[in-house]
Amino acid sequence: MTQHSATTSANLYAAIDAVATAQGPKPCWIVPGRGSWSFDDLRAQSARQAAALRAAGLRPGDRLLLQAEKSPEFVLLWLGCLRAGAVFIPLNTAYTAAEVRYFALDSRPRLLVCDPKQAATLAPVAAECGARLHTLDAQGGGSWSDAVAALPAVTAHANCEPCGADDLAAILYTSGTTGRSKGAMLSHGNLESNARTLVELWRFTAEDVLLHALPIYHVHGLFIATHCALLAGASTLLLPRFDVAAVMAQLPRTTAFMGIPTYYVRLLDEPTFGRDTASHLRVYICGSAPLLPATFAQFEQRTGQRILERYGMTEAGMITSNPYDGERVAGSVGFALPGVSVRVAGPDGTELPQGEPGVLEIRGPNLFKGYWQMPEKTAEEFRADGYFITGDVVTQDADGRIAIVGRAKDLVISGGFNIYPKEIELQIDALPEVVESAVIGVPHPDFGEGVVAVVVRRSGATLDEAQVQAALHERLARFKQPKRVFFVDGLPRNAMGKVQKARLREQYAMTFGGG
Ligand code: AMP
Repeated sequence: MTQHSATTSANLYAAIDAVATAQGPKPCWIVPGRGSWSFDDLRAQSARQAAALRAAGLRPGDRLLLQAEKSPEFVLLWLGCLRAGAVFIPLNTAYTAAEVRYFALDSRPRLLVCDPKQAATLAPVAAECGARLHTLDAQGGGSWSDAVAALPAVTAHANCEPCGADDLAAILYTSGTTGRSKGAMLSHGNLESNARTLVELWRFTAEDVLLHALPIYHVHGLFIATHCALLAGASTLLLPRFDVAAVMAQLPRTTAFMGIPTYYVRLLDEPTFGRDTASHLRVYICGSAPLLPATFAQFEQRTGQRILERYGMTEAGMITSNPYDGERVAGSVGFALPGVSVRVAGPDGTELPQGEPGVLEIRGPNLFKGYWQMPEKTAEEFRADGYFITGDVVTQDADGRIAIVGRAKDLVISGGFNIYPKEIELQIDALPEVVESAVIGVPHPDFGEGVVAVVVRRSGATLDEAQVQAALHERLARFKQPKRVFFVDGLPRNAMGKVQKARLREQYAMTFGGG
């Protein structure tokens, strides 16, 4: 069968198509227990997806909202959207119908695709926002796949919609831990420039086999992992989710792994994970939440490898990374990526003296185009010179190396003093009987906010509140010391491994009587 090549344009799919053409019959995605898809399959099947999207009435710039399980068909639908010039909106599968309704009314998609078991619940949502409803399941079944399969063969190699680098490719809703969730508008140019930088920086080649156990609705799994592999012409072992046994089973065939800190903690809990099973990988990459220095050290001790930690966000993809060749340092997210400008600024945007903690502001080709239909919110978070205020509080050393010390929104103000929880968490985490901790501010009648520490102890540990407070007495100024310390079995986390501080603040809100 002959295949038309994609039109040369700034469409991200054109870049992927060029690589896929060169790789041809080589496996692109391997789903253990299900099958494998070659790069030729990717080209042919994404063309059919694009044709089916056009047949369903989707025009360039129209939105498609997708809430479905991870599968190659999910990624093919993403590539189909790119080819058709449509805007892809993937949603966390954990969102309830009420949440999906919010996103649907906000983004007004022409097509809503969901898991078959959600179809009845989401039918009224689709009707309310005027979208067509289709289904897609983890095995590639569902009415959307039927619609694709029913297309006449003649439309199978539809061309790629030409577009500019600034044209929208996707809207990703931020996790919205504070206030309304915002739709970050990402362009073809944003995604392609970031992926190309990472392929080079992390040395991805067609020889690689990436083990992909991340969720596919988030920037980490969909853009960082998938695009790195696709633009390098590497094969991907696509697992439906992170499962220690499944990951262990695939490690022998793997050259590179990307994960969130929780995955590394779970792998280290597995006694058979060690030099014999894990050292042959050329790189382990980690991000989306802070990697504890203890995990970094334990991993190195067990495997002889240093995890490569990097930092990014929905609005900008990857921003910084530890070096591939140079020193990877625990507790540091490395250096700004090539082409990304960074500055550490005070509340008014003026650059702070080197070494002082401040909010990281960034500018570069990876930076999103603003929040969907929220011009005021967009304006608030950009400086006049185009820098975006990330909200992450960082320090930068004289060499340019960056460490994240907290979120500006996590800042606790107690008795008029600014307190960054991370500083206290690091001290608590360093205690021998502690696994990890989260420090929050909750209403306090005298101080405005009172510092509370929520601590996870090692199993069998007897450490108590008074001992934690005594240990911190010497190490932290009095105003930073937690007024109360609570012990829990585990911290609440979202699917990307981020500690849900808003939940903790709610839970401990009445600690000092509610302020
Ligand atoms: P999201 O937009 O859901 O990807 O979340 C982005 C946020 O995750 C960033 O603003 C950081 O606060 C946090 N984050 C991402 N990577 C790291 C990392 N390596 N260390 C600490 N925090 C991180």
